[in-house]
This record gives sequence, structure tokens and C-alpha cells, in this order.
Amino acid sequence: MSLKVISHEDCLKHRPPTGHPERPERLTAALAGISQIDGLIEIQAEAAEDEQILLAHQPDYLTSVKRLGKTERTIALDPDTHLGPDSLQAARLAAGAVCQGVIEVIAAPDTAVIALTRPPGHHAESARAMGFCLFNNVAIGAGLAACQGLSRVAICDFDVHHGNGTEEIVTSREGMLFLSSHQAPLYPGTGDPLDNRPGHIVNASLPAGSGSDEFRSLWMENLLPALEAFAPELVLVSAGFDAHWRDPLAGLKLKDEDYYWIGRELRRISRISAGGRLVATLEGGYDLKALEDSVLAFGEGVGS
Ligand SMILES: [Zn+2]
Repeated sequence: MSLKVISHEDCLKHRPPTGHPERPERLTAALAGISQIDGLIEIQAEAAEDEQILLAHQPDYLTSVKRLGKTERTIALDPDTHLGPDSLQAARLAAGAVCQGVIEVIAAPDTAVIALTRPPGHHAESARAMGFCLFNNVAIGAGLAACQGLSRVAICDFDVHHGNGTEEIVTSREGMLFLSSHQAPLYPGTGDPLDNRPGHIVNASLPAGSGSDEFRSLWMENLLPALEAFAPELVLVSAGFDAHWRDPLAGLKLKDEDYYWIGRELRRISRISAGGRLVATLEGGYDLKALEDSVLAFGEGVGS
């Protein structure tokens, strides 16, 4: 087994306005957590090319972000999502890190990769920035995996918010499964399990106040069986840590050890059909202490 982390210091240069929860210190905290794992292999992220971004986004949207990305001041793309002078490069690195991870695990099965970058990605739709996200990093990685010949790619999203952008992009793709646990009601308001499409889109929600038992039951009874039945050739993970009890943006009550558990379970299933291939990318997580400890626990679970 080997565990690799992909990151780049230029992801610190994406700077939303002061007071914004998606701040550079998040990446510092996540790296402080993962670096406590012995034997970790560190890789520097490379920026995604246009062709890779277009695996998940519409050409007009990329053209627009590239044009706006030349800004000399920070501008708002929506009330939550900002673009400054160094944001486009950070977003290219965040998408590129997942692409590198996909290439890494195809080349060397029984490898797990964790991309620790920002901005996050799972709210970004094919033609819209949203919810702190510019490019949908995990969907871009899924698109690359399909181009590399993988015919069954699963995306597992345990961020406390529903990955609306990922679902929007994946819903038109054959051979992809999107699984999400999230708090409801909560931003962005999507992800109703009533709209599930078995074998393709599987959402499962928890009410505010739910904790470890409810989260694990949801995955054990609902999401993990769907993942195993799909027999993925690659497991991608939208790893958000904002369901932690300390997190200020939501109301679930997960503990560090729940992230160890989900990391271990997702890796276990990746070994059944995917040769152990797993690539995770950082989504949310807005309490720095919780993020550091949760990323460490998740990394240990994935590496176990
Ligand atoms: Zn989130």
C-alpha cells in the first residue's frame, strides 16, 4: 500500500474576502494533519490544462472564467464565490491534482491519493461557479478516468452539503455513479433521495443533530451496498469535513474517528473491484482544528 498526497503552495494564494470561511489557513491545517502520517509520499500538483477542465465544463464557462481570472481585484461570481488575481491558477492546480491522482492510481494499483488543494469543487456546475467552487475537481477527474478507459467510476461525497454540481455533471454520463450523504435541509437544497436513480445517482440525507451512529448507518445500509454493487474500477471521493461537530457551517455531529471509518470503508470496497484505486479531493471543512484532525483520521483510514 502506498498513500500519496498532492498539493501546491499556490493554492494558498486564492483569497476570498476577509472573514470568508473558505480561507487559505484551511489548506495549511489539512496539510498539517496529513503530514503526521508515516511514509507519506508528497507530490507537487500541476495545473490542469483547458482540455482537462473541458471534461466537466462547458467551453463558454471556461472562456468566461479565464477572462474574469485576469482581474486585478477580487470579484464575486455569486454571493459566496470569489475570483482574485491568483484564483484561476489555484483552481487549475486543484483540478490538476485530481487528474494526477487518477493517472497515479491507474499506473500503480493499490495506491491511494489525497489531493489537498483549494478552492473546493463539488458545487461547481458544468456552466456555473457556485458555493466557493470554480471548477468541479472530482468530476474533471472522473472525466479523465473515463478517457483513460475506465468504464465504471464512482464518486463518493461525504461533505455535509450536497454535491449539486457533481450530480449535474455526472447525471448525463454513462458509467458513473454519484453517492452522497449530506445534511437536509441545508445549502444548496438539492439531493432529495426521492429523485435517486439507482446505479447512477444515490443521495441520502440526515437531519441536523445527527451524529456518528446515524452517519454510519446511512452508509452501511444504503450507500456502501450501492457502491459495492456498482463494482467501480475507480473510487473517487469528495472529502469534505464540515459534518464535524466543531464545524460552524452545518449541524451534524461527526467525530474524527468517523472520518477514519469512512476512509477505511471506501478503501475496503475499492480493493474488491478497483484494485485499491482511490483518489480523494478536499471539499469543505471550516473549523481549522477539526479539519487538521479529520484529514489525519481519514488519511489513516484510507491507508489502513
Ligand atoms: Zn460543504
